[in-house]
Amino acid sequence: MRERKPPGCPSDAVSSAVSSEGLAIQWRSSTAVFRLTLSFMLLMVMAFLAVEGWRSWRDYRHAYSSAQDSVRNLAQATAQHAEDAVRQVDVLTAELRERVEGDGLNNIDIPRIRALLDQQTKIMPQLQGLFIYAANGDWVVTNQYITPETANNADREYFNFHRTHPGREIRIGGVVRSRSSRELVIPVSRRLDNPDGSFAGVLLGTIRVSYFLDYYGDFKIDDKGALVLAMRSGDVLVRRPFISPATDQSLAQSEIFTRYLPSSNEGIALVKAVIDGTERLYAYRALESYPLVVEAGLSRESFVGPWRHDLLKTGLVLLVLIAGLSGFGALVLAQLRARIALEKQIRVAHQAVQDMALTDSLTGLGNRRKLDIALVQEVERARRQGSSIALIMLDVDYFKRFNDRYGHPAGDDCLRNVASAIQQALKRPADLAVRYGGEEFTILLPETNVSGAGQLAEEILQAIRDLNIEHPDHPLGIVTASAGVTSGTPTKDATTPAGMIKSADAFLYAAKNSGRNQWASELASLNVSPVSHV
Ligand code: GH3
Ligand code: MG
Ligand code: MG
Repeated sequence: MRERKPPGCPSDAVSSAVSSEGLAIQWRSSTAVFRLTLSFMLLMVMAFLAVEGWRSWRDYRHAYSSAQDSVRNLAQATAQHAEDAVRQVDVLTAELRERVEGDGLNNIDIPRIRALLDQQTKIMPQLQGLFIYAANGDWVVTNQYITPETANNADREYFNFHRTHPGREIRIGGVVRSRSSRELVIPVSRRLDNPDGSFAGVLLGTIRVSYFLDYYGDFKIDDKGALVLAMRSGDVLVRRPFISPATDQSLAQSEIFTRYLPSSNEGIALVKAVIDGTERLYAYRALESYPLVVEAGLSRESFVGPWRHDLLKTGLVLLVLIAGLSGFGALVLAQLRARIALEKQIRVAHQAVQDMALTDSLTGLGNRRKLDIALVQEVERARRQGSSIALIMLDVDYFKRFNDRYGHPAGDDCLRNVASAIQQALKRPADLAVRYGGEEFTILLPETNVSGAGQLAEEILQAIRDLNIEHPDHPLGIVTASAGVTSGTPTKDATTPAGMIKSADAFLYAAKNSGRNQWASELASLNVSPVSHV
């Protein structure tokens, strides 16, 4: 019996399989790191944006609510101021009327009344003057010593009003230019009655527009902010920034007068001013005792501007940060991507090398190394599953002679044909045919018993005969082969990879000894096939 080396220790092959698996794991982990890095960076950017977005929204709300507080306070202060200013004149004129009506307009002591008016005017800074007019409009008495030449006020609107309206309440009129001092004033007037109730004249107090303007000027509001005192009808009395009464501006059509004031005496609204088109946050307030309205407005720009500036600044910083992060991330990702591509190349190359290492280059079948790996695995599997496993060892007969006659290249062709005949005879995907070396082939048959394997061996020998390759130096004249067949069941007997090779080889030796062109197995009988070829 010829000596055979036991199947090569598969550790090197296994280790190469392990390293191939290792490469796959490495590649998968690199891909996971890539995805993780990408997700992490996206998450970071989104977190940055979310935090910054929340912060700037909070800042906006803060700016808006402090602007609301400011305008509310301003409206409160200016309303109180206007109310006080008018109330003082209201009280004063009420007292004066009692006195004048009591004395009778024709009987009043003019120097005394003038002194009184003068004294009152001096202690009330808002008062420009106090006037008493007769029923025909003539000036009867005033705090002022200089009386204009055309001293008749019958043409004034308030005069006409009182002449035609018997009501005794105070009346606040639109801004007029004083005939005595040329100052802009707000007329606050009352009707004077004769004892019989007929029209006796008019009592007038004039409030300086400048009194309000001075007060409004003291407030720190932005350039585009506005403070307004208006009649309930919408006519503007005082405004900061100042507008001339000649422009005849009215708020009657403004959103606050048409939409908000009818439903509430005070409130806050963000609206576009009718006078100058500026968008402002207004607090409005209707005075309780008089038909007057105050509005205090800060331009939207005054509180949105700084906020926007801040937003732009932090936005810019954020942008730089995100750009830096993206740049850095892109660099890391590019590195990772390059690494992944390289790992893939290595994996593919490794696979190719591994395939090459397990393939016989002449026939394209697997080689001995491949059998060694598969045999160990299949014996193990058979052991686990309790199944049988078979091995056929096949050797071309008198091949040396064939080579000698036809030359080595023709011998190679013959081996290729034999290999493909063997491969075509296999029926199951798990069956494995390899070129074991020289003109020897081995067929590994998982889950196959000895009779099944013998049957396949016979089919293969017949397929080789059927190739009908001329071999004049063979007694039969064609190329034939001999085979040794062995099988085992690892759970029942002591089947090992090395044992199977040894056994198959022994039967092959027996088949050769018995005349070749046949197969032998532990069934002891030699299987000689009739050859039709002569
Ligand atoms: P037997 O019937 O006893 O097997 O006789 P044999 O001549 O086939 O056996 P032997 O072992 O004496 O010769 C094997 C020959 O196979 C030797 C060598 O010339 C030939 N051979 C081995 N490998 C190759 C190969 O790759 N190509 C070719 N063309 N011939 C090979
Ligand atoms: Mg041989
Ligand atoms: Mg041979």
